[in-house]
Amino acid sequence: MQRKRFDIKTDARFLLRKNEHLQKFIEPYSFEKRTSYIDYNDIPVIKYKIYDDYENLITGFSTRLCGVSKAHLASLNLSFSRGDDPANVTENHKRLANALGYDYTKLVFSDQVHDTQIYIIKSEEDAGKGIVKASDIKQYDGLVTNLPNIPIMTFYADCVPLYFYDREKKVIGLAHSGWKGTVKNIASNMISTMKDTYDSEPKDIICAIGPSICRKCYEVDDVVIDQIKEKYTEEEYSKIVDEKGNGKYQLDLHGACRINLLNSGILPENIALPDMCTCCNANILYSHRASKGMRGNLAAVMMLKE
Ligand SMILES: [Zn+2]
Repeated sequence: MQRKRFDIKTDARFLLRKNEHLQKFIEPYSFEKRTSYIDYNDIPVIKYKIYDDYENLITGFSTRLCGVSKAHLASLNLSFSRGDDPANVTENHKRLANALGYDYTKLVFSDQVHDTQIYIIKSEEDAGKGIVKASDIKQYDGLVTNLPNIPIMTFYADCVPLYFYDREKKVIGLAHSGWKGTVKNIASNMISTMKDTYDSEPKDIICAIGPSICRKCYEVDDVVIDQIKEKYTEEEYSKIVDEKGNGKYQLDLHGACRINLLNSGILPENIALPDMCTCCNANILYSHRASKGMRGNLAAVMMLKE
């Protein structure tokens, strides 16, 4: 199977024959202006331009298209904890792994509990935990490793996926940053873990903020905003929150995550902001908010090649 990057000018008809929903998804942007794009290799997978030059790195984000799960889980649900038939989830994993080029039986998952703990994968023994053997990796929202050929994966349906790649020390990390993880600053925890464990320097770390809920879709109330106010300066707050009155606010989680990364020393040019919202594109991506909780899970994946 020939691998190709989606280009709206030349490949649109080919892709649209496969799935007409993708048309609306891709239309508003020219390829030049995007930070992410759709790579099509049997199934569509979202990739980030910021990682295109690193040939030893596999990275991507799933869509909900071209899988085998049914009803509200249709169709590429990657989570075993959403009530799906495990055989369907496994088949979906095979498809994503085939599209990106990793061995799905070596995947490492954690459960995700909206906290900031980072699990360090130090041994081959962790390979397959969560997919082909029981996982004892509990209470973690981030995974990090410098081991090659072990794909790491975190799950999403509106929360923010954060990708980390130290191009010098060859370390990969993924962190699940919903509003709680953002307020508690899992990004900073990941960067400290990379510094302490692998001697990473922030200037070498390339970050992508993956598809997740956008500012326009993310209305929150005082419970969330009170904590945002506590953790961000007035100037930062003014950049990420629109106050609508009557106790309602629009929160820019992407902007908040970007501030977290910058405050930990990541260079602005090394952060790719997302240009795909899960909630705006709920026919392509799973959105907790758009589906009122009736949804499967998308996944972020990274792997170092030997
Ligand atoms: Zn949106």
